[in-house]
Amino acid sequence: MLNKPVTILKNVGDKRAAALAKMGITTVGDLVTHFPRAYQNRGDILTVEEVKGRLREKLASLTYAAEEKVSLYSDPCAVILTAASEPTVKNIRRGMTLVKFRAFDDTGMCDITYFNMGYMKDVVHTGDTFRFFGRFSLLGNRLQAANPIYEAVREGGTLPAIVPVYPLTAGITQKMMAQLTSDALRYARSALTEYLPPHILSEMALPAYSYTIDNLHRPESMAALEIAQRRRVFEELFFLFTALAASGNKKKQKSRYPMGDIDLSEFKSHLPFELTSAQERCVSEIARDLSGEFVMNRMLTGDVGSGKTVVAAAALYLAVKNGYRGAVMVPTEILAAQHYKDLSALFEPMGIRCALLTGSTPKRERDAILASLSPITMEGMGTDIVIGTHALISGGVEIDRLGLAVIDEQHRFGVAQRAALLEKCESLHSLTMSATPIPRTLTLALYGEIDVSRIDELPKGRQKIDTFVVNEGYRDRLNGFIRKQVDEGHQVYIVCPAVEEKKKDPSAEDAEEMSNVTFGSIWETETDLPPLKAAESYAASLAEQLPELNIAFVHGKLKPKQKDTVMQEFSAGNVDVLVSTTVIEVGVNVPNATLMIVENAERFGLSQLHQLRGRVGRGSAKSYFILVSDARGDTARQRLAAIKSTTDGFRIAEYDLEQRGPGDFLGSDSIKQHGQMRLSLAAGCRDTGLIERAVALAKATVADDPTLSKEENKGLAEKVQKLLRESENLVN
Ligand code: ADP
Ligand code: MG
Repeated sequence: MLNKPVTILKNVGDKRAAALAKMGITTVGDLVTHFPRAYQNRGDILTVEEVKGRLREKLASLTYAAEEKVSLYSDPCAVILTAASEPTVKNIRRGMTLVKFRAFDDTGMCDITYFNMGYMKDVVHTGDTFRFFGRFSLLGNRLQAANPIYEAVREGGTLPAIVPVYPLTAGITQKMMAQLTSDALRYARSALTEYLPPHILSEMALPAYSYTIDNLHRPESMAALEIAQRRRVFEELFFLFTALAASGNKKKQKSRYPMGDIDLSEFKSHLPFELTSAQERCVSEIARDLSGEFVMNRMLTGDVGSGKTVVAAAALYLAVKNGYRGAVMVPTEILAAQHYKDLSALFEPMGIRCALLTGSTPKRERDAILASLSPITMEGMGTDIVIGTHALISGGVEIDRLGLAVIDEQHRFGVAQRAALLEKCESLHSLTMSATPIPRTLTLALYGEIDVSRIDELPKGRQKIDTFVVNEGYRDRLNGFIRKQVDEGHQVYIVCPAVEEKKKDPSAEDAEEMSNVTFGSIWETETDLPPLKAAESYAASLAEQLPELNIAFVHGKLKPKQKDTVMQEFSAGNVDVLVSTTVIEVGVNVPNATLMIVENAERFGLSQLHQLRGRVGRGSAKSYFILVSDARGDTARQRLAAIKSTTDGFRIAEYDLEQRGPGDFLGSDSIKQHGQMRLSLAAGCRDTGLIERAVALAKATVADDPTLSKEENKGLAEKVQKLLRESENLVN
């Protein structure tokens, strides 16, 4: 029933089916699980006076009001108002229409404006009453709203209190989508069978599947919605952790690549420094694994700047001297290029050959590299160490005598790619470097019983990096500081959050978009965020303010070649100020950079900020890390204060998990990018307890039934299989 095409439903013809297909909805079952991405609580009706009161309170709570005129909006809320006048219609520039009227309740007046919705003049007439939902603002003492959602209030009729907001596509409106999901539910009700094992339902006090589905689409109440969402979050986590536990549960394998002990003095003599004792310890742990009986499956952790790369290099040296090849896989092309540069500088003088292989390697070069990795390379011509992105595990790459795989910054790969990687590395020694310290709860979930080496000591002579949090009021002083650093011969990073393209004119749907808000006690969205700064336009305006400086920018939308060029110019010292998105976050090493400024700092995860901070302070000069934020919320400010007060990456990670949920650590970005796994909801789950329970139950379930073949786990097994299939698609 769930597999029937959507056209089986009434009101779905070819055209609508085609529109739905664009969103990946082809079957009735797809509709049933096409959940709202937010809900609006239009049931709590406020009076005009109450909305004003809230806005005034908000204004008063601002500890540092930005000097420039801020337009402060209320959270989305509902009011019931009666039109006091006929709407006036104005045509402003280029066909923009403005419909305006005044409306009132018992406590006051509100000005309502609709942009580009000319038909509103026929909808609203003097004396008509509507429920309006949206964000309100104050102009002087007058309440106003632009493009609020309106619903006519009719005698004897009721309006639903909680309204779902679905992800849409062209040709499908919210109303249609609500109708479609409701039709699909009615049609397929009898096929909605429970798939979670009963003991888990009762232990976690979760509602039944059909109740969950009903209340996600049409919540009976806030409480019911919360319970349903809790189950959905738990499920996402539970399936993911079960999949990880089931796939990571392999027994220790006998090593097929026995290695002998190798003297490291040649290697060490090529280093410009002495290894710290923590590094020495990690190297000997790795050496012991490599020469042991079993396949190495080890994770190397350590804070930013603790020197993980050189430890990995030692491991590669051991593999190569034993007659094997090594592979280094990293998540971004920039980082691949960086590692290639550093490792080949270290290894070439020892006669060890490195090659760089990424998605943008030209075909001729790629073919040559592939040939140099094959069994029949001529003596002294083969590649010993190949460094690259996931292009290394894509089709067609065969590495002969591959003995060791090093995976850097692994959590950034996303769970799916990681699964494929582990598969590929099954009988291979692997060394995983975790860039960001991962909270204890998640280490267990993500890495299971893996062996861990920890570099718990920074190289000597590291400077303390001074961290400051400032607001827009400091702009001039900041620019002066940038100039001063450059005058002293140093370089500067400026990091902006990645920006998504905004939509065109406000229209009815957009108005709805704008007033959306997810709610429920599980998490809330922040509504006090200042506007974003985009890397490219930011660089342009900075160039106007500091014309004597050489300013460049880099962001994810540039071609890999362009990115590399900019990064190389920056490394070479030809660029004074590099404005970028977080593409530089991982692993970039430019010791001459002494100042990093992060714009819209409130948008970043703390671990991400900590990671960014590690990009400066790499040389001998004093370094600075400045967070610019005009965020007014308490949480945002507390979070930024935390990054200022601690430099312990592990503590920051724990704090981050509590504040933002596991998304940052589970690589949900890359998952979302590929639109494959839906960790959408759980990614922002701030209920650490729920995450812990999901990990524990997943482990217990797999321990009890490793192949998930017991009757009670049938439904679960299907879900997990689906997840793993999707991972595979993602990688191939
Ligand atoms: P991370 O652990 O963040 O990957 P890196 O491996 O990039 O850190 O090392 C950071 C910097 O520290 C590099 O410039 C590296 O050359 C340097 N470094 C590593 N080990 C030592 C050491 N024992 N003494 C001095 N500098 C070191
Ligand atoms: Mg690194």
